[in-house]
Amino acid sequence: MRKISNCRVCQSKKIHPFFDLGKQPLANSLLKKANQKEKKYPLSLSWCKDCNLVQLNHTVDPKELFSNYVWVTGTSKTAKEYAKIFYNEMVSRFKSNDAENYVLEIASNDGTFLKPFIENKYKTLGVDPAENIVKVALKEGVPTEHMFFGVKAARKLLKGHGPAAVVFARNVLPHVANTRDFIEGMKIVLKDDGVGAVEVHYADKILKELHYDSIYHEHLCYFTVKSLEKLLNDFDLYIFDIIKSPISGGSIVVYFKKKKTREKVVVNQYRDKETIDKINNFSSWKNFARKSYFHRDKLIAIIKKINQDKKKIVGYGASARSSTLLNFCGINSKMISAIADQNHLKQNLFTAGSHILIEKPEKVIKRNPDYILILAWNFNQEIIENLENNLSFRGSYIIPLPNEPKIKFGCGK
Ligand SMILES: [Zn+2]
Repeated sequence: MRKISNCRVCQSKKIHPFFDLGKQPLANSLLKKANQKEKKYPLSLSWCKDCNLVQLNHTVDPKELFSNYVWVTGTSKTAKEYAKIFYNEMVSRFKSNDAENYVLEIASNDGTFLKPFIENKYKTLGVDPAENIVKVALKEGVPTEHMFFGVKAARKLLKGHGPAAVVFARNVLPHVANTRDFIEGMKIVLKDDGVGAVEVHYADKILKELHYDSIYHEHLCYFTVKSLEKLLNDFDLYIFDIIKSPISGGSIVVYFKKKKTREKVVVNQYRDKETIDKINNFSSWKNFARKSYFHRDKLIAIIKKINQDKKKIVGYGASARSSTLLNFCGINSKMISAIADQNHLKQNLFTAGSHILIEKPEKVIKRNPDYILILAWNFNQEIIENLENNLSFRGSYIIPLPNEPKIKFGCGK
């Protein structure tokens, strides 16, 4: 683990801490036993005075972070649907008859997002740092190489495959410690008139809807268009279009080229809106931290009241974001007896730090809870429908975010 002394985007030393979430375990390091002791690392944010990037103060060694990586993109049905939308958006922005070149995805995971390109006869290549996931992609027929992406990797790719007509990286840039090496790599491997795209969790949503649970050790940088544009411009890359990502609601896809071209109107609208909404200002982020502490107190008061009334609470969704919420709020197995999760790789393990048992939803419902705390609140509609229609749950819900925690009373109690 290393504490940063320079901004990850502009290298300025003027980085100001503003939010300390305490020492926390790595979100994905689930435990085999309830009493197992885990390593904890500082989790806190700074704001850069020069480029306004919000970022973590510490970088955990990627080998420690990703050694237990269990997420495979293709397991989610939404991801497959989004891959098609992403493909259509991408091909509408470059010369699709450009058959001589190929489409490169960085951190391509199991190849879900390259498959629509393959189905439409494009040459493709994926690169990914997780060896086991590269094997899955190859088995699925997606050409994939095992590598950590950066300048060195880009030079190797250029030598072996020539320049790529399209290079894209989804939700990986915010997890990269050396953002400059990564973006320079994208430039090196991109054809002169090619199109690049990066997808990032947009800091605007985090700030405005109080998504403090999206702060975790893997998520190093919290980009706005301003901070991302500064990074791209430093390498003579220029934004020409931006869209909202349909997958998580909270992300944006930013398209860029090596030359300044006519920008879509939306680019300036983003810039203007960021200025009006002050999302790059230090005062807004200090306020975000203050509101997060209030939120924690409110949520804990709700849970304690239900506990005192001798009603039972369970959780739903043992994702990375749930880890931050549970640890920051100090929620433990005395308050919540179990957490439901459909991912069988997580079942029968315990959450890091909070030590709560993860079980399959059917089993958790058999505990006969009165309330379900929906930790994967960004999917709360789907979860509630599933609980009521397929598992006949008639109790109530605690929906912690966005903004204020809310109680949604069920129909049966
Ligand atoms: Zn900076």
